Amino acid sequence: MHMKFLQKLYIFTICIIGIPLAIYHLSPLNVTIQGWVLIYILTGSILLLNFFIIFLPPKGNALSMDSSIYLACIFLFGLDITLLVLLLSSLLGLFIRKTTWWKHLFNFSIYTIMIVGSYYSYILFNGTQDGTNFTNLLPYLVALTVYFSLNVIMISAYFFILEPKDAVQLIRNLSKKGIIKESIVSYVSTLLLALVLTILLEANSYFGLFLFISLVVSLSFAFTKFFTLYKEVEEKANKDFLTDLFNHGYFKLQLDEHIKQMESYEAFSVAILDIDDFKKYNDLNGHLQGDELLKYFGSYLKEKTEPFGYLPARYGGEEFTILMPKTDKRAASAFLNKIRKELNDTHFNGSDDLPLQCLSFSAGIAQYEEDTYNSAELLNKADKAMYYAKAQGKNTVQIYEENSHLYNEEHFLLKEIDALEQQLSIFLSKDMYTYQHSKRVFTYAVEMANRLPLTSEERRELILGALIHDIGKLEIPRDIINKKGKLDAHEWDLMKKHVTWGKEIMASTKKYDDLIPLVELHHERFDGKGYPYGLVGEKIPKLARILCVIDSFDAMTTERPYQRTKTFQEGIDELNRCAGEQFDPVFVKPFIRMIQEKYPEKVNNN
Ligand code: GH3
Ligand code: MG
Ligand code: MG
Repeated sequence: MHMKFLQKLYIFTICIIGIPLAIYHLSPLNVTIQGWVLIYILTGSILLLNFFIIFLPPKGNALSMDSSIYLACIFLFGLDITLLVLLLSSLLGLFIRKTTWWKHLFNFSIYTIMIVGSYYSYILFNGTQDGTNFTNLLPYLVALTVYFSLNVIMISAYFFILEPKDAVQLIRNLSKKGIIKESIVSYVSTLLLALVLTILLEANSYFGLFLFISLVVSLSFAFTKFFTLYKEVEEKANKDFLTDLFNHGYFKLQLDEHIKQMESYEAFSVAILDIDDFKKYNDLNGHLQGDELLKYFGSYLKEKTEPFGYLPARYGGEEFTILMPKTDKRAASAFLNKIRKELNDTHFNGSDDLPLQCLSFSAGIAQYEEDTYNSAELLNKADKAMYYAKAQGKNTVQIYEENSHLYNEEHFLLKEIDALEQQLSIFLSKDMYTYQHSKRVFTYAVEMANRLPLTSEERRELILGALIHDIGKLEIPRDIINKKGKLDAHEWDLMKKHVTWGKEIMASTKKYDDLIPLVELHHERFDGKGYPYGLVGEKIPKLARILCVIDSFDAMTTERPYQRTKTFQEGIDELNRCAGEQFDPVFVKPFIRMIQEKYPEKVNNN
């Protein structure tokens, strides 16, 4: 392994302090036979305890039992025996623990410094070695504090040199998460155990030590069990039972964490995915099979996101979220479109019977910007974009763009669009032309709503009205709808009735009362020659006059059995020609400008 120069220097320095310190204080010749027996037994205990570590939840902090033994040795026997125990267990550790030689030396030196430092501070505060004594309470505490402070300082310095950035982050986290409090608790329990061991050793050295070791080993068993159980429960609490993806709560935590941990601004994205027509899938195949689809979708997302290090989660119901670190909205959109298309080509039981005849989802993407307030705002944006994707006809991916009127309007509007869109899908089986026509008129209307000086109420009416304006055509018999040639007079009469039938359908739900004028009056003409009433000029509501322009332009420029299709330029000419007669000239101009700006390739391509 390649090591930095500073790191080598640091290890060298610690060893150059630790090893002479040990040699200076080691005096094996002074030790009695009984002392040696004790040293061997204590060394054996330390090696044994290295196998039975006590892990404490939630982070799995290890309670170091060998430290209890060293501290007890300091309190009872002083330096020689303690250091001999350290030396012996380090030497034996060479055979047991397979790490590089310099790590052994480094470790030995650190422990020596801790033990020596702790011993002298104990003596300095008048700690005595005549057995456990209440008057020694302060020296005990001081010795412990020095012991662990030296440990923390030397280890953190090592990590700081290794990776300064990580270390700074670590220290920042330490202060945040109450880890310090946790560590103090485990340090104090180490001291308490050391004192217990001191008393036991004093009372009956071999049997006392045996009792201590047995206690620690059985505690280790119990705690290990407790800790694994805790981990299992923790994991379950973060997971969604059905799909085995992470759940809503965990996703939000991770998202917040990601925002907090970012060094500086980083472009990352969040996506919300919603399976299209899932309710229908449930209705057709039953809830159990619906669950199967959710499971499948979950594993699909897991598989596709894994190579990129993205985090997928089940957000709820048939909604899923993906956290995409270091990915801007364009890249996110490219990724989602790719997996969307692959999903479209995947066969799944019952997917053919869905309205789009394949598995699909709609997704909204929001990119984290420097001024994004919090995770909730980010998710909210992705959600709006997702609703917009639904409104665009599903099976699409939509990026949230700032300053789009559609998003700035109430989120509500998007939900309403969604609801009307559901009604409109009835056309899918009967009258594909009207379905697609309505969607195009809707798209033009959204554009016009952004350009004309309308109130937000008017904007809502125009957009929703455009989507639903032909709903009355549901009442017209199929053979007239799908007739290839020109309609006869009677058929035309029926056709014209769609505005009145549309009005009646809309009147059945109070919620859409305000859309009735658009549905009923979009065939009125500015010159009074329209139907159903023959209203003239400003007698026709403003929004109906706007819709008339949009509706007519789309009718002219798309293929119908009974008329020649006009090019966009011919459509524009026709609008100009009829301005003041069929159309209100005030709205013809801005509409033409919109078409020229938004669809230049179609206008120029004659
Ligand atoms: P859209 O394309 O607009 O998203 O339509 P949709 O039908 O997918 O959406 P909608 O929100 O109307 O319906 C979602 C349905 O998902 C309703 C609910 O019954 C079903 N659902 C939610 N959670 C579960 C689940 O855990 N298992 C099953 N089988 N169905 C679920
Ligand atoms: Mg949904
Ligand atoms: Mg859905």
